[in-house]
Amino acid sequence: MPEAANFAIIDHPLIQHKLSLMRARETPTGVFRALMREVGLLLGYEATRDLPLAETEIETPLETARLPVLAGKKLCLVSILRAGNGLLDGMLELVPSARVGHIGLYRDPQTLAAVEYYAKLPDDLSERDVILVDPMLATGNSAVAAIARLKQQDARSIKFVCLVAAPEGVATVHGVFPDVMILSAALDRCLDDHGYILPGLGDAGDRLFGTK
Ligand code: URA
Repeated sequence: MPEAANFAIIDHPLIQHKLSLMRARETPTGVFRALMREVGLLLGYEATRDLPLAETEIETPLETARLPVLAGKKLCLVSILRAGNGLLDGMLELVPSARVGHIGLYRDPQTLAAVEYYAKLPDDLSERDVILVDPMLATGNSAVAAIARLKQQDARSIKFVCLVAAPEGVATVHGVFPDVMILSAALDRCLDDHGYILPGLGDAGDRLFGTK
């Protein structure tokens, strides 16, 4: 896939190394979960590099200085349940005071359409920048449904952060929401007939929570 506008691969060697370990079939649940958390933190670092700063007066032990601090209302991290919680944990380590929202979506196994079963978000999203997280951007249907919900609540800005993206998912999201920046640790080859990413890492939720 050619370099698209509003799509970036985060190719930091630590992220790439950890992602390869996560892809390995034999990586056990606990290790997978720890790696997801670590990669979440590292991706969060990249996703927050353009947060606005404002100067404020701070008294150091020696004098008063005007120094930069994060401006405006706290960032909002939104996790697409359930696998998004793995990345969320790492990002929260980085930005512990962020507000957190959850959107529950499941994939209809026949149609692969995203069906919302839960949503709890801060009610002042119009004053907050949102980082939406889900490890796997596969068909893009869940991401589109979650972004639509965030836009419905007037989120000030939205970035989508994932671990592995499929070209189909990126195209679907940007077909509907070209303004949403997508950051991913990898862009894989394609989807299989069941909507899984190839080579991918399998079902991120099952691997994270040990449910299969
Ligand atoms: N969701 C997953 O967890 N893995 C995939 O490969 C695609 C969707």
